[in-house]
Amino acid sequence: VLLVSVCLARWCSPPPGVLVKGGDILEALANTRVVAFDKTGTLTRGQFTVVEFRAIGKSPGMHSLLYWVSSVESKSSHPMAAALADYARFSSIEPRPENVKEFHMYPGEGIYGEIDGHQIYVGNQRIAARAGCAAVPEEVEMEMKGTTVGYVFSGGVPIGVFSLSDTCRTGAAEAVIGLKRMGIKTAMLTGDSKAAAMSAQNQMGDALDMVHAELLPEDKVNIVRNLKVKEGSIVMVGDGMNDAPALAAADTSHVTLMSNDVRKILDAIRLGRRTHRKVV
Ligand code: ADP
Ligand code: MG
Repeated sequence: VLLVSVCLARWCSPPPGVLVKGGDILEALANTRVVAFDKTGTLTRGQFTVVEFRAIGKSPGMHSLLYWVSSVESKSSHPMAAALADYARFSSIEPRPENVKEFHMYPGEGIYGEIDGHQIYVGNQRIAARAGCAAVPEEVEMEMKGTTVGYVFSGGVPIGVFSLSDTCRTGAAEAVIGLKRMGIKTAMLTGDSKAAAMSAQNQMGDALDMVHAELLPEDKVNIVRNLKVKEGSIVMVGDGMNDAPALAAADTSHVTLMSNDVRKILDAIRLGRRTHRKVV
């Protein structure tokens, strides 16, 4: 289920599959100038596949590495976690989240967990600083493929690197192109790498007007606020995972698309326009 946040509007009976809650949502939908989409889980399926997984540096080897990573990730509900657990199982390693003592999530960065006395960090380059690691190996070769690259750190050094791929949802490109035809600008806001963001943009035929990558949840909030000042009414579409603050910044109320079909946003805006025209 995708959540859409908008600024203000009015209640009316919505088209099937769209749940409109709160005050002046329809008016805001009618006035929409920009639609900002979260990437992972919204424009993309959020169903990652591990493309590559390597033990590096002083890693004790793939077995321990996969056991640690999959166990710590199993405490997280991020779409990347399921892919890493599947990958471990495929290598006959059963994740043991019950052995993880301490666990922290760092939105837009990654996770931390202590397992069997080992302190493990998994995430992007940002998590390196938290892991006490100054220099992260530049996995240029992996990044080039447009995948999402992740790192594993322990004892202040990188011990693993992996890449994951995701694909765009059916209808994502159609939704973006449809909005364009309605005179609405579109943006992608993601915490993922520039390479992964560009790969999604390419899969959608370069249809998005703006692509912002490597964002922390608060960066998404600032972009939404700036767009609001610059462009007027803005709609934010996200799956609620790590983008709740940005959804909240776009709105006072919510529209919930009762399916994972992003094309429903077109119906919601059309409904807003029809209703608002009648009212004015
Ligand atoms: P998006 O903005 O595309 O929805 P997120 O905010 O969910 O992305 O995550 C941004 C980035 O943070 C991910 O691409 C990944 O590098 C890192 N990250 C977040 N959660 C995890 C996790 N559980 N394990 C590893 N990396 C993570
Ligand atoms: Mg997300």
